[in-house]
Amino acid sequence: MPDLQPVLLVGAGPGDPRLITLAGADALRRADVVLYDRLAAPELLDLARHADGHSDGHADGKVQLIDVGKAPGGQTVTQDDINQMLIDHARRGRRVVRLKGGDPFVFGRGGEEASALTAAGIPVRVIPGVTSATAAAAAAGIAVTDRRASSSVTIVTGSDGDGGAEPIDWHAVANVGGVIVLMMAWRSIEHIAARLIDAGLSAQTPAAAIERATTPQQRVITAPIAELSESARTLNPPVTVVIGPTVPLAHPVADLPLAGWRIVVTRPAAQSASMIERLRALGSMVIALPTIEIRPRQDAAVDAAVQRLADGQYHYVALTSVNGVDTLWNALQHRQFDARAFAGVRIAAIGSETARALSRRGLQADVVPAAFTSTALSDRLAAEDLAGKRVLLARAALGSPVLRERLADAGARVDDVAFYDTVTPTPDPDALAELRHAADLVTLTSPSTAQGLVRMLRDTDSAAAQLDSLQAVCIGPVSAAAARQLGLSVAAVADVYTVDGLIDAVLQLASEHPSGLR
Ligand code: SAH
Repeated sequence: MPDLQPVLLVGAGPGDPRLITLAGADALRRADVVLYDRLAAPELLDLARHADGHSDGHADGKVQLIDVGKAPGGQTVTQDDINQMLIDHARRGRRVVRLKGGDPFVFGRGGEEASALTAAGIPVRVIPGVTSATAAAAAAGIAVTDRRASSSVTIVTGSDGDGGAEPIDWHAVANVGGVIVLMMAWRSIEHIAARLIDAGLSAQTPAAAIERATTPQQRVITAPIAELSESARTLNPPVTVVIGPTVPLAHPVADLPLAGWRIVVTRPAAQSASMIERLRALGSMVIALPTIEIRPRQDAAVDAAVQRLADGQYHYVALTSVNGVDTLWNALQHRQFDARAFAGVRIAAIGSETARALSRRGLQADVVPAAFTSTALSDRLAAEDLAGKRVLLARAALGSPVLRERLADAGARVDDVAFYDTVTPTPDPDALAELRHAADLVTLTSPSTAQGLVRMLRDTDSAAAQLDSLQAVCIGPVSAAAARQLGLSVAAVADVYTVDGLIDAVLQLASEHPSGLR
């Protein structure tokens, strides 16, 4: 029998994927199997999915993700089934994570799972989480205790009765004082409120209902408890209800600057993580729809160029994208070369992000133009004496001829080598549907992302009518020109041609249009 790893019961936090603990995130990255619930944020599953960098990682490089979620009322996987699955996977010697919303031991049946595992002889560890019992209130600006008003907080479920615990003493709850937090109570809130009032809680007690706390879809309604169900009729679970004297003390919660905005990210999946993270942190809902995919070339032209570089035949290497840096570097490594291939070479980068990609490899760009365009780069290079100098232009197939022609005009011998192709990936149908019906802005970080987007829409929609209803924000004038030429409307163009510059342009646009563009 293989060594048994402890099963980890991991708290996922209340909704915002960033509210998982570091220990929880680490457990996900190391997991072989993850059993998760309905409310688990997809980003958290991505943590498990993308964890291929572990030296002691998964034997076959793949994590198994199992949805054991139950929609309210829906019958899918029973608790016994879940317990048995945990036991079976653990017995196979796998690292099992049981990912549970909020904290595993607050109305999460974590205790039942821990008991079942222990009874089966399997060790268990709990990684606590941020519970929505307090986080939902906090996200609405409400403290659950406050020396001025509440010295206790009572957390109660609205759906007790099937597990053998004593039934809830609603009379005691109504009279306990302090703050009362109701979970799993939204469907019966009218009934529960009436019961509390009957038992002596003032009908005027301030209350708040918080839907999908800590997510971009969060909604908060406050009303006296007697009126809450009526005032908050439009809310849907998950909802947490907070009742008590701290509700009126709530501080106003400042909206995040991109709250309510749905923003499409078209960058290749491998490069979009930090951009998506930033947009989310600013409050936007992100629709990840990569419209290009990078396919490195491994052909004779690449081989020859890399060999010439290593042989010291180039005076200059010019790089016009992070992808160019990545694919050139990988091609060098693939052929057992390293940074010494750049000895004596002047390195030109089109902009700060390309320069940063170089610097991650220990290479400092010698030439970076003030404006991050091919024209500016060729102007900067042409100011140096290029006569008879050999230049390697390592970039995408079908790049614009501007740089090559201008350098050749200045007397350089240019090898314009395609290190990668840019292809249009098959779109995720959900993301495509969201783009069509709900997107406020589409971000374009290169002309090719614009071309990929249009190609994707044409391929999947014979009408292809609504191109001009999409509002694009572009990283720079070249992308903007490409987008316009393709029939897209350009709502804004970054002043600084970087992802940060693009996000600044989005922020500017959002501040000018507080009620949106659509
Ligand atoms: N273990 C979880 C609670 C599970 S019970 C925790 O510690 O948070 C499910 C209940 O949690 C829901 O009915 C709702 O009352 C509350 N809940 C979960 N996520 C929520 C969210 N994002 N916003 C508001 N309430 C939430």
